Amino acid sequence: ELALKNPVNLPRWVRVNTILSNKEEVIKGLGVEPVDSIDALVPGKVYFDDCVENLLALESNISFVGNELYEKGKIIIQDKASCFPAAVLHGMPGPVGDIIDGCAAPGNKTTHLAALYPNAKIFAFERDAYRVKTLQKMVRISGAKNVEIQHMDFTHTDVHDEKYANVTHILLDPSCSGSGIVSRQDFLLVNEQDPVDEGDRKENLSKFQSTILKHALSFPNVRNVTYSTCSVHREENEQVVDEVLKQEKDWSCAPLESTLPQWPDRGVPEYCSDPSMAGGMIRCEPGRYGTIGFFVANLFHNKRYAEATS
Ligand code: SAM
Repeated sequence: ELALKNPVNLPRWVRVNTILSNKEEVIKGLGVEPVDSIDALVPGKVYFDDCVENLLALESNISFVGNELYEKGKIIIQDKASCFPAAVLHGMPGPVGDIIDGCAAPGNKTTHLAALYPNAKIFAFERDAYRVKTLQKMVRISGAKNVEIQHMDFTHTDVHDEKYANVTHILLDPSCSGSGIVSRQDFLLVNEQDPVDEGDRKENLSKFQSTILKHALSFPNVRNVTYSTCSVHREENEQVVDEVLKQEKDWSCAPLESTLPQWPDRGVPEYCSDPSMAGGMIRCEPGRYGTIGFFVANLFHNKRYAEATS
């Protein structure tokens, strides 16, 4: 019930789950007609997003309680910004092996990956026992057959395990302060179980985020990594990426052209030691273009990327 309320006036973003359905079926099922501008959304109308494929915006007060498309997993309620990490990863060129989602529950991004990469194997990590159940449920309802859920701490994985030898892409969306969340429908995106003291919260989160990002970059064949948070704080965003890339010289931030260039708000150059890095980062200011507050960095391994795309 809580997850279905939308107290802030954002449009209601709905991702068509292409594993089980398609845009035509969803439009018909919802009984809505297209409009050209998101500002023209009123009951009975739908806007097709221009950044993320198969993403629709509906008027903010629409209810999905008892909606068949929603209950059958044919549509997934997911903020536009939260669709960016999988969309960015998917926009990078080169062949794809296996994929890791390092911090997966409740599974919005895992199921998005599963839809975008039906032929890849997806390892979805979640360390929290309660949240792993939500993840299992979401993956089951989505109809994804290519997801292997790993109930464990992602930082405890042996990166040299044969099992992960074919991993080329990682989506990393770790616990964060959730300072960009302005709509209760997205409350599950934040890990409220984190035992951090309020006073040291940002610093602790930032240390944890750097550690988990470094772990992701250490898989021997990984080529593309997206790092994301639903935080607006630089300490959890540009600063984490900047600090990690200073230590990981084989890795770079991708150029703006390959990181959803149509999205206007990028990383803040002043928060990066090399201002050009900011082009490969996306920022979403809460409510500015109809999304929650969000951050994505698009990272690639210099040598593996050059080899894979030459
Ligand atoms: N990506 C998810 C989605 O789009 O639905 C939201 C992820 S939420 C921000 C972060 C999740 O990571 C939480 O469920 C948390 O329990 C989990 N987590 C935090 N640290 C972890 C770790 N070291 N290993 C695995 N999971 C972790």
